[in-house]
Amino acid sequence: KARVYKFGDKNTDGNSTMKNLLGGKGANLAEMSAIGIPVPPGFTITTEVCTEYNLLGKDAVVGMIVPEVEKAIENIENIMGSKFGDKENPLLVSVRSGARVSMPGMMDTVLNLGLNDEVVEGLAIKSGNERFAWDSYRRFIQMYGDVVLGMKPESKEDIDPFEEIMEALKHKRDIELDTEFTIQDLKDLVYDFKDAVKKRTGHDFPTNPWDQLWGAVMAVFNSWNGDRAIYYRNMNGYPSEWGTAVNVQAMVYGNMGDNSGTGVCFTRDAGTGENLFNGEYLINAQGEDVVAGTRTPQQITKVGSLRWAELAKVEEDDRLANYPSLEELMPSIYNELNDYQQKLEDHYKDMQDMEFTMQDGKLWILQTRNGKRTGSAMVKIAIDKLKEGAITEKEALLSIEPNKLDELLHPVFDPKALKKSNVIAQGLPASPGAATGQIVFFADEASKYKTSILVRIETSPEDLEGMNIAKGILTARGGMTSHAAVVARGMGKCCVSGAGALKINYKNRTLTVDGHEYHEGDWISLNGSTGNIIDGKVATIEPELSGEFAEIMELADKFATMKVRTNADSPKDAKVARSFGAQGIGLTRTEHMFFEVDRIKAMREMILSDTVKGRKQALDQLLPMQREDFEGIFEAMAGLPVTVRLLDPPLHEFVPHVLATQKDLAEEMHISLEAVKSKIAELEEFNPMLGHRGCRLGITYPEITEMQARAIIEAALNLKERGIEAKPEIMVPLIGTLAEFESQEKIIRDTANKVFEERNDTIEYLVGTMIEIPRAALTADLIAAKAEFFSFGTNDLTQMAFGYSRDDAGKFLPVYIEKGILKVDPFEVLDQEGVGQLVKMGTEKGRMTKPDLKVGICGEHGGEPSSVEFCYNTGMNYVSCSPYRVPIARVASAQAVI
Ligand code: PEP
Ligand code: MG
Repeated sequence: KARVYKFGDKNTDGNSTMKNLLGGKGANLAEMSAIGIPVPPGFTITTEVCTEYNLLGKDAVVGMIVPEVEKAIENIENIMGSKFGDKENPLLVSVRSGARVSMPGMMDTVLNLGLNDEVVEGLAIKSGNERFAWDSYRRFIQMYGDVVLGMKPESKEDIDPFEEIMEALKHKRDIELDTEFTIQDLKDLVYDFKDAVKKRTGHDFPTNPWDQLWGAVMAVFNSWNGDRAIYYRNMNGYPSEWGTAVNVQAMVYGNMGDNSGTGVCFTRDAGTGENLFNGEYLINAQGEDVVAGTRTPQQITKVGSLRWAELAKVEEDDRLANYPSLEELMPSIYNELNDYQQKLEDHYKDMQDMEFTMQDGKLWILQTRNGKRTGSAMVKIAIDKLKEGAITEKEALLSIEPNKLDELLHPVFDPKALKKSNVIAQGLPASPGAATGQIVFFADEASKYKTSILVRIETSPEDLEGMNIAKGILTARGGMTSHAAVVARGMGKCCVSGAGALKINYKNRTLTVDGHEYHEGDWISLNGSTGNIIDGKVATIEPELSGEFAEIMELADKFATMKVRTNADSPKDAKVARSFGAQGIGLTRTEHMFFEVDRIKAMREMILSDTVKGRKQALDQLLPMQREDFEGIFEAMAGLPVTVRLLDPPLHEFVPHVLATQKDLAEEMHISLEAVKSKIAELEEFNPMLGHRGCRLGITYPEITEMQARAIIEAALNLKERGIEAKPEIMVPLIGTLAEFESQEKIIRDTANKVFEERNDTIEYLVGTMIEIPRAALTADLIAAKAEFFSFGTNDLTQMAFGYSRDDAGKFLPVYIEKGILKVDPFEVLDQEGVGQLVKMGTEKGRMTKPDLKVGICGEHGGEPSSVEFCYNTGMNYVSCSPYRVPIARVASAQAVI
């Protein structure tokens, strides 16, 4: 089998369908070559080789691929007309990683590979630019040292040894910028860099280009198992078996003078979704200069440039002189780029994020990929492209990443509060959203406050974890394509970048704007849609959903066959969920209603009384309150089914554990404090989640079930009188045997009949059960003989199938995930392999007895896309999830069908 695939002209081996083998980048480079986009030639070493490397080690793998790699290098040499390692006409290459999906900043890159003391002279002559040759050489040693030889500092306290050398030289020469180095300076740097390598590693810097190449290839493979890559994989649930491919490609140079440059562009606006080609570039620069944010990048289009100048308060004369757009500065290159961006978006049928370089007036496209975007951009682009006729309805739906819809539902700043707010500075609107939080200056301290804003001069891949934790990100440097901006948009996190007015001092942990000093812990707010940085906190309100959002939802409902209900315990939640399109309630946890101040008292009296009479008295107080709650919920869900679950949690959760409250309770109940205390002690359990809870309560205290059944039926009858249709489905929790269900069902039906008689009226209702104990799933055929519906409680089912306490698993699950013992948290993503079997078996067995048995899920998994797909495949009638996840589940339910 082939382990190396070449690209760069029509003779390309791979194509875009081979992402698993060639990685996203490699597959795209091949595809681009094939459709006539000018891509610097190169080759891809497959992801399978990465896996082989992990199993067999370096020597075995190199042995396997040497002949193929040598041939592939020869192919590049033929296309470029230069030779790898040649002193007169050298070919230099880049080496990059490329996994199946893009992992921003995760994997390392080495540029200018192939240089040594002799080759650099050749490059100087060939390019006619000695400064450029030596600058490339010193960059190469620095990158190679950092990435391949492991000299990059691990922590923020350490300084990059190469940066240290450069700073020292700048100091000595009394200069500020890299561009001020003379050729001799660069030569000195190269000498000192090599010296630093020797000191640190004990070995000379490798001079043989082939040794350099193999070192870099292995470093890419190693970086797949680096900490950051593992963190990113875990965050996204990507398995470690995927591996990464390695792309080796001819170097082209954006830093060969004023007729060269480099940039990044997007075929549409990644923040808003607007159909506007946009991006940034720099003249006489290499790729990392644009992303690093050390120079102010210029806009690609004139429109973009004018918008930028307005935000940055740059006068038109200044703009034209110092920051002209590519469109204005190099119209023919711009036109060519514009053609390619159109061609690439049409070809991939999705918004593209491209990197390009101009070398001496020739345009090369280095990379294209489906661009990361915010949730609202995702929705707008899908609908726009559908309307343009570029994609089908199914393709539009499949382009939605369900979890990202969450971003659209989150609060935005209240316009009234915004008017009164104090804007202290302005940056670029890098990623929309509203964030209020306390300032932190270091990514690893992001969790110091409940809501934090990460304030940095610029961010780097090491900051990823902290960026994920922070509510918002603010940087002083960097444009719309800086690391912070791109990563934040991918995370859907509010980000303001390039706010040049901020003076950040990491040492003192201060942020100074306009003479005002902010300290760590001070509150600020960011408006990611305008770039405004605001003093203090700003109030937020619920967002208004866009027309495109509604259109996506409509489309989802057109394809989805499985319904989406919500878990809601109050009329308010029910209304929110209904506005998001919930088709009923799959779980009302009645216990939540008992926690309100006036109710908890009656509840406690009920729990603490020793006699049936005493309990009934207390329950009589609770009845009207419960009835009222149910009326509210039924009304909010008029015409739709509402599943109400009987009391579930262990009783001790309701009693007071604070002495003062215990005293109050004793006084009110006219019993001694000692009596209260001893009753509370009696309720203590070693394993409350496996203890006196669920239907066990209703079995030991039937009067509780009686009261709840009465409240539900009376509420439904009251609504009927008002002409509103209620469809209650009464659900018994935590049964493990048929007999448990039967005992509760009898109380419910007897009570309902009694109420019907009293009121001389009836309503339709169902009595069903949760399946959340493994034994219930195993005996589902028996239970279905009586139960009218099943709802899988996958929270408890996961707890009991794994034997992990829901309340304590947080102590060890992170370690399990870090060590790869579990891929994801099973309380978040349904474990299809194990717990899923119980769900499948329960459904199948239940339907063997009752073929039309209604089956749903109401555990947290009901709103998690991969679990929703599983539920669909299992044949469920509905999933039920929290109100804010309803839109996510609707799209996931539709995608499951497609
Ligand atoms: C469950 O166990 O999955 C469930 C929905 O019930 P609760 O989370 O209330 O135990
Ligand atoms: Mg449960």
